[in-house]
Amino acid sequence: MQETGNDIEHAKNEDERDWEINSYENDKGKWHVYPGLCKGCGLCIEKCPVKVIEWAKELGFSGTPTVKPRVEGCIVCGICQTVCPDAAIHIEKKGKEVPPAAVPVH
Ligand code: SF4
Ligand code: SF4
Repeated sequence: MQETGNDIEHAKNEDERDWEINSYENDKGKWHVYPGLCKGCGLCIEKCPVKVIEWAKELGFSGTPTVKPRVEGCIVCGICQTVCPDAAIHIEKKGKEVPPAAVPVH
């Protein structure tokens, strides 16, 4: 099958996406958004249980606003990452500190 003009145009647009990452951090973890993947659907804003995601001034790949968290209130539950249809959010939970190995006292 021959490639159509539309396919070529689509591939070109994919290549022109901006792969920059915006990252935010609190004591529970890190919150990353890829504006180049965000289509501004608002699903993450709607589903966040503590309502800390808001629209950003920065635009996503389709010219709609992308999102940012008020990260101090984020509980790092990962729901926004799960519901995003375009994998534009990535959450990293901070691991619990591993206590130092116990030293036997004689
Ligand atoms: S990780 Fe949870 S609390 Fe944090 S912004 Fe996403 S949905 Fe909201
Ligand atoms: S759910 Fe994903 S695509 Fe939709 S606004 Fe949030 S980050 Fe952007």
